[in-house]
Amino acid sequence: MKLLKHRISAHLFQNFREFLVRNFDFDTANQAVPTYLLDQIEIAAANFAEGEAIRLIDRESLLAIKDALEMSYTDGITAITEAYLQPDDSITGKFIDKVNPKITKRLEFKLTDEELSYILVNDRELANFSEEDWLDFAAATKPKNCKKGIPCGGSCIAASKQCRISSLAQQTSNKKAIATAQENTKSLNKTPDTVLTIKAGIEKVDAKYKVKLSALEAQRNEKIKQIDQAFHLPLKDFEKVMDDFRKADKKYSDLIEKAELEKGKLIVKELKKTYEQPRMQQHHGMSEAEDMWSVKIGNTSFHGTEEFSADHTLVKTVSALLQQKDLPAHFIDSTKNVFFSKQLNKDDHYWQVKYNNPTHISGATGGDRNIVFYNTQNGSRIDEYIHETGHNFATKKYGGVDPPKLSDYGKAIKSPHPSEYGRKSKAEDFAETARMYFLDPKRLKEDAPERYHVFEKMMKDENYAG
Ligand SMILES: [Zn+2]
Repeated sequence: MKLLKHRISAHLFQNFREFLVRNFDFDTANQAVPTYLLDQIEIAAANFAEGEAIRLIDRESLLAIKDALEMSYTDGITAITEAYLQPDDSITGKFIDKVNPKITKRLEFKLTDEELSYILVNDRELANFSEEDWLDFAAATKPKNCKKGIPCGGSCIAASKQCRISSLAQQTSNKKAIATAQENTKSLNKTPDTVLTIKAGIEKVDAKYKVKLSALEAQRNEKIKQIDQAFHLPLKDFEKVMDDFRKADKKYSDLIEKAELEKGKLIVKELKKTYEQPRMQQHHGMSEAEDMWSVKIGNTSFHGTEEFSADHTLVKTVSALLQQKDLPAHFIDSTKNVFFSKQLNKDDHYWQVKYNNPTHISGATGGDRNIVFYNTQNGSRIDEYIHETGHNFATKKYGGVDPPKLSDYGKAIKSPHPSEYGRKSKAEDFAETARMYFLDPKRLKEDAPERYHVFEKMMKDENYAG
């Protein structure tokens, strides 16, 4: 096979299978590919999986790349059809040299601080053209041409050879192209990640209050011990001990609240950058539309009424979510929109009858990739958030809120759910497992180990069917 003569650098293997099929009538499904070539494909695949390449489309970068390529490819380049700035700051891509109306040379290149390399990828196709076809190009107005080979620095090399140039002039030209590409993609690279910014801010606040909080917590725990020893004291003295405890407890919780408010303020500050003006919205069990503004964090949009301030339920919920450890993005992303409504769920009566519980009032509803919170004037709603996201995750995973009987999760339902609410239906079973996995893992693991392990696998492996 002719290809074996090529010395192709790893970047050229990106679409290697496709390349084999296209250029060598190579049927990779049925023909054996030499092992060492397959190894190269794996290496190339690994190289490309490391980070995201940024496609270069701005004129300035492409012109700088063209200049660098033409330092060595002296026949003239018709077009750069693809160019990417790679995470390792190299530039890779494809260019064409239209020799005449019939013949086009297609090449792939890689450009680094050190070296320019390129190789012809359609040499087999070119070999099929007749002398007459090539003659045409003698009439072309292009200045200096390598006929069936490719230009490489000052000379022509065989079509099957790779050109590698690392002269000082070439390096200078390459560096200029890379710098231009970096400069012109800077805004793409530096898109601020709201989640990371807020998490860093939260860590700072935690660090600031850490010492003082643990001192106050120790004082409070000391007072609890004193209560234990004060039961035999006269009532008046006992009241005094209780009073001391209340004061210590208040100091401690006031400082926690102060820290949380500071976190809330930085969340508001960051999310305001994504603020959208209020519009009328009505979803799930809302009886009428409410005028809701919107903010976005990660892939989820949050919608609320009233003042968007640090003590808004929405902000407290987001704060709790960001401080919750190990919430995987593929779980959290199951929820696309979250609405904080002031109304009660109009379907409460239906559920009161269905659940045979006349005092049942729904806190939130989910399942269609959205969540609506009702009667929202309290603190963080993280419990319900994770429960409802459990329903949304089931929908994403199974196409509906009920885990199928034959799914791994369906098979894991053997005993009654440790949470009473989880016994109402298969859907609630799954949602309660989600809630407990994050907020009460010890109990879930002890009381429902099969459910715990299936859910854990789903959290750790996005592609696991569950
Ligand atoms: Zn539910």
